[in-house]
Amino acid sequence: MAHFQNRSEYRNEKNVKEESNFIKASWYLCDCLQLSDATSISSKYVPTTNISGILPDLVIKSSDSILFHVHTKVLNSISSNHFGGYGTPSHSAVTALEDSKILTIVLDIIYRNPNAAIDFAPPFPFDQLASAISRLPVYGVDPQVQLDSNASNAATAHPIYRALLAHATPHALELYILAAQHKMESLAVAASTYLVGFHIADLNDEQAEAMGPRYLRRLILMQSRRESMLKRILLQPPYPHPSTPDCDVLDQKMLTKAWTLCAAYFVWDIRADLPSAALENLLGPLAGHVSCELCKRLIREQVTKIVGEWEAVKGTI
Ligand SMILES: [Zn+2]
Repeated sequence: MAHFQNRSEYRNEKNVKEESNFIKASWYLCDCLQLSDATSISSKYVPTTNISGILPDLVIKSSDSILFHVHTKVLNSISSNHFGGYGTPSHSAVTALEDSKILTIVLDIIYRNPNAAIDFAPPFPFDQLASAISRLPVYGVDPQVQLDSNASNAATAHPIYRALLAHATPHALELYILAAQHKMESLAVAASTYLVGFHIADLNDEQAEAMGPRYLRRLILMQSRRESMLKRILLQPPYPHPSTPDCDVLDQKMLTKAWTLCAAYFVWDIRADLPSAALENLLGPLAGHVSCELCKRLIREQVTKIVGEWEAVKGTI
């Protein structure tokens, strides 16, 4: 810490620092004005963005000549390689390989821009979002650490993570592959819920290779586990009630046989994504074919039970 002989010396030192900061800011603004003569400025990364009292100290020019005014301190706080070597304050613009769309996403990930959740949700093209995420390692940014950590909590999930999930319905497989490639476990699990009904036979070699053996195996296991659970659940006829004058053991054996035949027939058409309503539609009508009120009640209770069991079967990898 500097020691000053008197208050006057302190004021002089302070004035010099303020003047120095003013000159630096002036140079920076002059550079920006000169640069902006020839190019456009990103609407998100402008020269006046103040973060904790710090103004941008670096201008990155995208391949399509858009200027991004950024804070090297912010870039370097996330990047392990000084943002690909660009993370040094400079009066001259540095040119990046990325176009402005990709660079905006990369920066929004680093800055955790809250608007990104909406900006990059559909109809924004998924492939551009995926391309930007695949470029993160070039800038020393780990997608898994930045996007997937704490993602299970909606309040702490990264805005881009939320944007990615918004693409899950139309791009479930691509999202799963992207998550697998970057070991984004939370994202892979979330995407897998949309792949319960995916036909593994439709997977081509490139897609299988892109997701890798581990995530491919987990996807296959998820589906086979659900199918075997559904078979087991289906083959549970109602438990017999004590014999009554109107319904004895033989009558109830007929019901058990009818249930088993119905379930066995259905097993041929089993699907891991079978809706609960299909189970109700298959087994519920059996109650209409028996006259015993006890049997009717037991059928309805059993249908409710197996629907509950089916809905509880895990629907993710
Ligand atoms: Zn009965």
